[in-house]
Amino acid sequence: MGVGDVGADEPEHPASPTQTTSRYSLRMRALLVMATAVSLVIGAARGQAQIVRTADATVRGFSESDFPRLKKLAENVYAYEDLNGSIDGNLAFTTNSLIVVTTDGVLVADGQGSVAKTKRLVDAIGRLTTQPIRYVVVCADHGDHIAGNSAFPPSVTFIAHPTSKAAIERQKGTIPVPQETVSGRRTLRMGDTEIQILFLGRAHTGGDLQVYLPREGILFMGEVFFNRLYPSVGGNRSGRPIEWLETVKKAEAMKAKMYVPDHGFVDSAEVLNEELVNFRRALENLVSEGRRLHAAKTPLETAYRNINLGEFQYWYRAANNMPDALRQVYLEIEGKLP
Ligand SMILES: [Zn+2]
Repeated sequence: MGVGDVGADEPEHPASPTQTTSRYSLRMRALLVMATAVSLVIGAARGQAQIVRTADATVRGFSESDFPRLKKLAENVYAYEDLNGSIDGNLAFTTNSLIVVTTDGVLVADGQGSVAKTKRLVDAIGRLTTQPIRYVVVCADHGDHIAGNSAFPPSVTFIAHPTSKAAIERQKGTIPVPQETVSGRRTLRMGDTEIQILFLGRAHTGGDLQVYLPREGILFMGEVFFNRLYPSVGGNRSGRPIEWLETVKKAEAMKAKMYVPDHGFVDSAEVLNEELVNFRRALENLVSEGRRLHAAKTPLETAYRNINLGEFQYWYRAANNMPDALRQVYLEIEGKLP
């Protein structure tokens, strides 16, 4: 699906089923129609499609057959979105990969969650270019991004943070162990494209890497950034919300033109830049509420119910992800995380 026809991807919400024919409701409907028309004109004038700001594919009006989706971000740079779970499974958000095509091969940042899904990603790259995949950067070492890595060609070099390499080694499974590591920064030159692999600090996995394209101003954030998906510390509780917040601030300070999330939709650069700020605010809320409840000696079992998430309570999977995230804040405050 091309970038230009996003409007067709994002159906409007159906009208409310509770409509009466009273003069009042007719007047209200007329006002709503006018307001919608005005906002559509403003949106069109700005060249923006109307989108619902959520990671929930169902609410955005998608079905499973709409995935995977390929979005061109710049010349030879693509984001690839596949559905994480099933559309009715309460896991209806996207898992994203970055594809950088150069005259000296292809670099991919993060794979997908199964061999079949990553095979589909490899096939999509094969339709974009005849260049071979040379590098795969493991920005996030959780299964939803690496479980399919054996589907990449055997000649690929995997690059990960030492923490992620160790995590993959411990699994002793079929996932290829990264041959090379980056613990701070590494610059690759492929053809005339400069690609920086960065570690800005621990966040979701502990070995969180980012991929930055200085010429294009594109920063693929790995699992440091989810677009309108409540911060998750992962099934293995590797996330550290307090450090995560500082890592997001470092990414913001880079003033990239576009921040690409590992989960949630790859919207326009303008929307994503706003949503990175909102994601940082969600972490700030979690950390400040965690500190408040911890200082008041509120036991965790009670804190889950007393936390004030404000606007973030309505974010996709907030109810699922908040309890573990709050627990990690408590453990971080107490210095009990390894
Ligand atoms: Zn993930």
